[in-house]
Amino acid sequence: MSKDNTEVWPESPLAHFNAKRRRGFLSKAGPIFWVCVCGLTVLAFIGGATALTVEHLRGQELQRSRETLQNAVRLLARHFDQRFADFEAVERSLATELGRRITSPDELQKIASDESFHQMLRARVNDSGDFAGVNLYDVDGNRVASSTKWPATPVNLSDRNYYRTFKRDHGGSPVAVELVQSKLSPGLTIVVARKITGQDGQFLGFITRSISPDDVERFLSSIALPNATVALFHQGGTLLARFPSVSTALGRDFSSSPLAAQALLNGGQATMTVTGFLDREERIASVRFLDQYPLAVSATSKTSIVLANWHSQARLVLAGAGAAGAVGLVMMASIVFCLRKQRRQLDVAVNNMKQGLVLFDQSERLIVCNSRYLDMFGLSPEVVRPGCALRDIIQHRSDIGSLPGGVDAYCEFIRRAKLGRATETLTQTGDGRWMQIINRPVPGGGWVSTIEDVTEQRRAEERIARLARYDVVTGLPNRAFFLERLQQELEKRVEGSLAVCFLDIDEFKSVNDSLGHHIGDELLKSIAAALRDCIGSEAFLARLGGDEFAIFLRESTDGRNRAAGLIADLYRALQRQHSCGPYMLSAEASIGVAIAPKDGGTCEEILQNADLAMYEAKFAGKKSYRFFEPAMEKRTRERRMLEADLRKALVTGEIEVYFQPIVALSSGEIVGCEALARWNHPERGFVSPNEFIPVAEQSGLIDSLGDHVLRLACAEAASWPAHLKVAVNISPAQFKTFGLPLKVASALEKAGLLPSRLELEITEAILIKDDQVAVDILHQLRAIGVRVALDDFGTGYSSLSYLSKFPFDKIKIDRCFIKELSDSSRSISIVKTIVALAAEHKMSTTAEGVETERQRDLLSELSCDEMQGFFVSRPRPAAEVREMLTSSRMFAWTASR
Ligand code: C2E
Ligand code: CA
Ligand code: CA
Repeated sequence: MSKDNTEVWPESPLAHFNAKRRRGFLSKAGPIFWVCVCGLTVLAFIGGATALTVEHLRGQELQRSRETLQNAVRLLARHFDQRFADFEAVERSLATELGRRITSPDELQKIASDESFHQMLRARVNDSGDFAGVNLYDVDGNRVASSTKWPATPVNLSDRNYYRTFKRDHGGSPVAVELVQSKLSPGLTIVVARKITGQDGQFLGFITRSISPDDVERFLSSIALPNATVALFHQGGTLLARFPSVSTALGRDFSSSPLAAQALLNGGQATMTVTGFLDREERIASVRFLDQYPLAVSATSKTSIVLANWHSQARLVLAGAGAAGAVGLVMMASIVFCLRKQRRQLDVAVNNMKQGLVLFDQSERLIVCNSRYLDMFGLSPEVVRPGCALRDIIQHRSDIGSLPGGVDAYCEFIRRAKLGRATETLTQTGDGRWMQIINRPVPGGGWVSTIEDVTEQRRAEERIARLARYDVVTGLPNRAFFLERLQQELEKRVEGSLAVCFLDIDEFKSVNDSLGHHIGDELLKSIAAALRDCIGSEAFLARLGGDEFAIFLRESTDGRNRAAGLIADLYRALQRQHSCGPYMLSAEASIGVAIAPKDGGTCEEILQNADLAMYEAKFAGKKSYRFFEPAMEKRTRERRMLEADLRKALVTGEIEVYFQPIVALSSGEIVGCEALARWNHPERGFVSPNEFIPVAEQSGLIDSLGDHVLRLACAEAASWPAHLKVAVNISPAQFKTFGLPLKVASALEKAGLLPSRLELEITEAILIKDDQVAVDILHQLRAIGVRVALDDFGTGYSSLSYLSKFPFDKIKIDRCFIKELSDSSRSISIVKTIVALAAEHKMSTTAEGVETERQRDLLSELSCDEMQGFFVSRPRPAAEVREMLTSSRMFAWTASR
């Protein structure tokens, strides 16, 4: 059976589960895991995006700065080209003219020595609006003319680099720029020198014009690039001017700097990050060579300043990202908290379920199970863990003996749920408990199993089922079960016959009434045990209810004889002594037998006919058995109808009492009357007591009927002259209970009748059984003071021995002897004997059924005491008899006829 699991580990199931997941069961990861993964991914994404953004902003800032510097140096380069061209315009034109006019160094000296040449220079310089003077030098480096003074103060510049270059390098650039220590004034100066070349290319001298670094720096300061330094270099790397000014750096050679190298490689321009030579700080630098002069312009900005803006942007971005991350974290924590809470609640719910619960995934691996599941089958939490295979769990169950069948078969069964079919099954564990298992597929593959321990429920059902089939008192099968089994036997029947016996315990009601239901139940149990012992395996016994039992004998070729044989055994079993509490009781039964299929088509019909046969047996005098005959049906039906009518009649007062006078033979006077029950049935007219008294006895109605007659008789007798007695018939059935003496006393009391005026007529039937109870009752009656007569003497068993059992007051000689009295000497001798016997026991005698005068005379001769019969009077209604008794003329029997 499938078990499944829900996390119901003894402690921290989720922790256990998560640990397992970390070990590689990602596919089984729960929502908390995924929330964490997603949350962390989002956080990582935010972090990554923030870093990229910040880095991008930084790059943008640096790029912008680079572009700004590049544009600045491009403008400056153009500007300086222009400025230097303007500054050097006088030199250029003069050098061109002189080169065209003179052909030798001497000629130059000659022209320069003339004051007019000085004047011309001066005019040109003034024309150019510039303050710096122009000087002319000869081929040896001696100043030969100046725009500022005439004659020019002698100065020799043959030690200048540019002079040496001019002199040596014929094809080189005609212009040179150089920072030098001035020979004309203190301090450094930037000299722009132009070579004078003759027509034939001969070096003839040179012209210089100077500008101080301060002037250049002033200009640079005017450009005012914010947060930047600008500088002018010689293309050879010498720093010519810088803003902000650093005088100590002027003239320094930067030709080896990476920026210079890059510019040379890159066609005169470069932009890159460098380290400041003064402060060693990182800077962005851009440099560009001038087009017309061997100069370069550079601009730099400190990276820290460039990035200042970026820093504040980055702080903003980081703050935003941090806030987003924090919100994400809080949300994730909240979700995890909620999920954990839900999970805990789910755990509590699942672990407190009455049912076991297990969930498997598509690959037949355990996802969760609850602790109830483990407990139910005694499974080990060490084995049954999330991720473990279905087969392992089933194997484990098999190992510990909680699996009823084979492991493979069980797994196959469980898999049906996996295939999308819900299954429900009931199985038994090794220790006999019943489990109901429901497997249901779950969306996305896998299945969930719920297991319920239905042992108690099943036991209750079994108990109920047993109650439905068995009798509680005796433990025997009940009527329903009997019929069910009989039906099966009938269906199996081939050619033989089945005998069905219906037993009714005789006089069981009196045991119940007199000894109590508890003793009655004990007797039933003992009878059931005795019957069971006696029937063996070839018969099936059941208690149908009350004191009724049924037995069927299995099919045989001679059902009737086998039944007769069994019945003999049954009687022996019943008659043995049954120990019931303090009593030892024996039992008799009336038994009816029906033979299937002859006596009925259905089992109900067969049982009913066996019942009819039993009824017939009961009627015939009990402790006997009858085989069913079709005629019984009618008889019994009529008897039963009569019984029903009688029951009604007792309530509606249809039962009357007639009285038949009893006359003393000696005097002919009425000495009393016998009360006789009369039933005037509304449809049938008068029904004979011979017909309805047995029905009343058999049905138990005799008690109320007897009471009724007794009370009416006593009441009526009380109205008669005081010397007259009343005789009332008491059925043996009325002796079955202890209540009779009480009832008699009560009737006398109510009627106000002396006990001595009441005579109870009983038959010898009650003495046939050696029944001490009956004799005790007779003594109690006698103690009250009533008389007891032995009725119908001479019929039936007629054993004289009964006379010794109880001292009767009177013997009533049965009608059958009187009838034959005239014709049979045998009857005469019998009557004679009875009279003699009675006299011996001091009993009186009454002859019944006297119809003729002859009979009266004979009885008189035989010394019989009293007589009654049609010769005197038929039984008459009370009123008629009362009139007869009170009328004086009726006292003599002769007159009454
Ligand atoms: P029993 O006690 O022997 O009653 C006498 C019966 O003989 C009565 O029949 C009566 O009508 C009948 N009889 C009287 N004189 C003559 C006669 O000259 N010739 C003939 N052929 N019969 C005569 P009944 O009333 O039909 O009663 C029949 C039996 O029913 C009674 O026999 C008695 O055993 C029983 N019985 C009647 N009433 C009661 C009753 O109240 N209680 C009980 N337990 N039994 C009763
Ligand atoms: Ca009688
Ligand atoms: Ca009688």
